[in-house]
Amino acid sequence: MTGTCVVDLDAVRANTERVRATAGAEVMSVVKADAYGHGAVPCARAALAGGATWLGVATIEEALALRAAGISAPVLALLTVTAGAPVGPAVAAGVDLPAGSPREVTLAAAAAQEAGRPARLHLELDTGMSRGGARTGPDWEDLVTAALKAQAGGEVEVVGAWSHLVEDDPHHPTTSAQAAAFLDGLATAGRLGLGPVLRHLGKSTSALARGDLGFDLVRCGLATYGLSPVDDRTAAELGLRAAMTLRAPVALTKRVPAGTGVGYGHRHTTDRETGLALVPLGYADGIPRAAADRAEVLLGGARRRIAGTVCMDQLVVEVGDDAVEVGEPVLLFGPGDQGEPTAQEWAQAAGTISYEIVTRVGARVPRCHVGTAGR
Ligand SMILES: *Cc1c(COP(=O)(O)O)cnc(C)c1O
Repeated sequence: MTGTCVVDLDAVRANTERVRATAGAEVMSVVKADAYGHGAVPCARAALAGGATWLGVATIEEALALRAAGISAPVLALLTVTAGAPVGPAVAAGVDLPAGSPREVTLAAAAAQEAGRPARLHLELDTGMSRGGARTGPDWEDLVTAALKAQAGGEVEVVGAWSHLVEDDPHHPTTSAQAAAFLDGLATAGRLGLGPVLRHLGKSTSALARGDLGFDLVRCGLATYGLSPVDDRTAAELGLRAAMTLRAPVALTKRVPAGTGVGYGHRHTTDRETGLALVPLGYADGIPRAAADRAEVLLGGARRRIAGTVCMDQLVVEVGDDAVEVGEPVLLFGPGDQGEPTAQEWAQAAGTISYEIVTRVGARVPRCHVGTAGR
């Protein structure tokens, strides 16, 4: 007996429709890291059914897995590290690649010769993230110049120009500064001879709040899965619905007297005679150990706090005098309709972000896709 991760594909479709309506641009649904734990292939199909026209992943391997599943929509492997990656197969499969330095252009051009077709590149400008991409100024000019030279030689096709936002607050001054730097970089590229390309800067936060930052395409991950990317607004307030529900059946119940220590280190001690219920999910399944004693689950119509530590494979909750049966469902998190906690609440309890809560649900928890979107 273990847990199940139920993923509602109709919610993925509806969330994509919602983002499409507010973004003021086309939508690239980001399905990296197995669609933030939700299952890349079914979620990609559901997002495409909801109006997404692009898919984004982190690595070439993730992009090739979408192609192997028969998905032919444009795919950009956003966080490709070209060294050692199967760049040739990516070019051959029509996977778009980022380029943040002349060296990456050279590698893509070499792969294009191997593949017998031009490499499709999105030039990345670092407007403040200090992660991938060429810094504004001479580095960006060198990148654009190298890409245009390779394009003239027929080895690459420059498809896009992009940058990534630092802040989750779409109205933060840094966001505005980045948008200005992006426009500036686009103007520079135009002066150097780059024709019209797809411009993309935004992510979930900006897609929901700043239609003016949409440019041609927004790269939207978290909102696709129905989670709020900001602390001060719930998913429901943003018109989103969480796609993932994590649940498990009660594995065992027992009655214990007052003063019973529970779990490793007896981090919890009962203060009266009470019932305990054993839940077969632990940190190996992605339940954050840091949420012990704080996070809650829904069981038997009531919220129950985790008693003691989260173990590798199990956790325990106190149920008092309530009648709880073995096999009864425990909801760890979900959209919240039935009173269960959300991934955002778990994130707050664990001192992290909801991205991490859903993405870390472990490989041994089977994904059960429900709904009809994209099927
Ligand atoms: C993951 C990622 C995104 C998606 O971000 P969300 O906040 O989940 O919408 C967009 N762009 C890049 C470059 C990313 O790595």
